[in-house]
Amino acid sequence: MSEEVIVGIDLGTTFSAIAYINSYGKPEIIPNLEGERTTPSVIFFEEDGTPIVGQIAFNQAITNPERTVRFVKRDMGNPSFRFNVDGKDYLPETLSAIILKKLKNDAEERLGKEIKKAVISVPAYFKDAQREATKQAAEIASLEVVRIINEPTAAALAYGLDKEEDQTILIYDFGGGTFDVTILRVTGREFTVLATDGDPQLGGSDVDALLVKYLAEDFREVHDVDLRDQPHTHHDLWQKAEITKKDVGLRPSVKVVLSHGGNTASVNLDRDDFEDLIEDLINKTETYMEKVIQDANLDWSEIDKIILVGGSSRIPAVQKMIKRVTGKEPVKDTNPDECVALGAAIQAVVSTKDSPSESNEKKTNQKEPELKSEKGETIDIIINEVASHSLGIRAKSAQTGKYVNSIIIPRLTQIPCEKTKIYGTYEDNQSRVEFDVLQGEEDDPHSPNVDRIGKAGLKNLPPHKAGELKIEVTLKYTADGTIEVVTREQMSGQVSRESIMQKSNILSDEIVALEKQQLETMEI
Ligand code: ADP
Ligand code: MG
Repeated sequence: MSEEVIVGIDLGTTFSAIAYINSYGKPEIIPNLEGERTTPSVIFFEEDGTPIVGQIAFNQAITNPERTVRFVKRDMGNPSFRFNVDGKDYLPETLSAIILKKLKNDAEERLGKEIKKAVISVPAYFKDAQREATKQAAEIASLEVVRIINEPTAAALAYGLDKEEDQTILIYDFGGGTFDVTILRVTGREFTVLATDGDPQLGGSDVDALLVKYLAEDFREVHDVDLRDQPHTHHDLWQKAEITKKDVGLRPSVKVVLSHGGNTASVNLDRDDFEDLIEDLINKTETYMEKVIQDANLDWSEIDKIILVGGSSRIPAVQKMIKRVTGKEPVKDTNPDECVALGAAIQAVVSTKDSPSESNEKKTNQKEPELKSEKGETIDIIINEVASHSLGIRAKSAQTGKYVNSIIIPRLTQIPCEKTKIYGTYEDNQSRVEFDVLQGEEDDPHSPNVDRIGKAGLKNLPPHKAGELKIEVTLKYTADGTIEVVTREQMSGQVSRESIMQKSNILSDEIVALEKQQLETMEI
């Protein structure tokens, strides 16, 4: 394979997808080798340790739950997560890498081209640790990440690229394990994020969980057996619940037949009952919508279009709620399962164009992929992202003497950006300063909602009086939404001191290299 192609990847909690810009300059989904346009983000490990990704793995989840892993994305950036099978521990980064490899291998086979580079999408609310983990997963899968893109921005690109008029759009993304909502302004080909928020622990599987409970309790009332007690019947119930959830969206009433050990029960579920059951979940998403419209300083009349993303946005109660809150029908011309990958593919060719070193270096016979408008003209886009979390350091408040989360870059600041704040020392001849870098909103630096990204500081400070040294702390958000920190101290006539932050929750380069090596020899 001599020719290369750059792709966009939606690495989802439950489903993933991969896309590229075709020879007509249009984004296009690359189906997997099973012929499906999305691939379940599920891995099944065979007896010999070979991982199998996708629908086959999903089907194994019932009979072989202990050899099957799902929802890895929820544990990206979680340093204590391991999936153990046959005495071997798998890191979340490695598991995600296995999924990426399946997408890459199948797409290479389909296109007859080599894939070395990708844009990968992540939820807008992903913090630094999760973004870094996603990049490391790509590295383990031998993919160079040219850029991380936020999922709602990708969806907006896929929707807005060919639209003539300027508009303000709301992206409502309700997936398998996560929910987020984002407001963007599209003017020409400039996409500006105005506000974004979401819940990383709210998704379609919560809907399934409510249905599982409902069905299990119904069965127990009739037969005095709890189907949740046995792993096999429990998993079976989960699958039935998921099918039922989709069916009840299409018909006003469905009948679910449950059987176990010769006992059978037939449960009727009306759409109204289902909607009562999930009302709290839908209301939760409504609260986030209200929050972003406030953060964006807009009211609903100023939102021109509503775009639904994620499989769970197909639930009729979602669409009803959106209509009630905004007074508008969501647009019908985007595919909720595909638009994120398509948008990532768009960003992929734009990134290639943007990077000057890239274009100088590329003097091969390869034709650069380019985006084309309806009229066949080459198009460029501008993306203005914002930080979805505030960034600060743990510092002692001068007024109270207590430690606080001293925010330096507030959330919703446009990125990339950097800000510097000057701190003083508080003791005579203090020889070092050390502080935690924090991501999150709350004042309390120890709140579970505030992430400790790493330690930064300076050692071997020269003798001085308390407060005499000025310690300059520069925090940066990169275009990927990841973080860099530099600490500096400059006394006149002295050599300047400078240090960069070491992140605490990311894998070391050695481990990434080792995992990559292992995956290279693995057949996926
Ligand atoms: P993610 O981005 O988190 O991987 P997806 O956007 O692929 O997730 O959405 C998957 C979720 O959507 C699953 O929980 C699935 O059950 C749900 N889903 C898919 N189709 C429907 C439907 N027609 N009605 C309700 N839920 C659906
Ligand atoms: Mg998704």
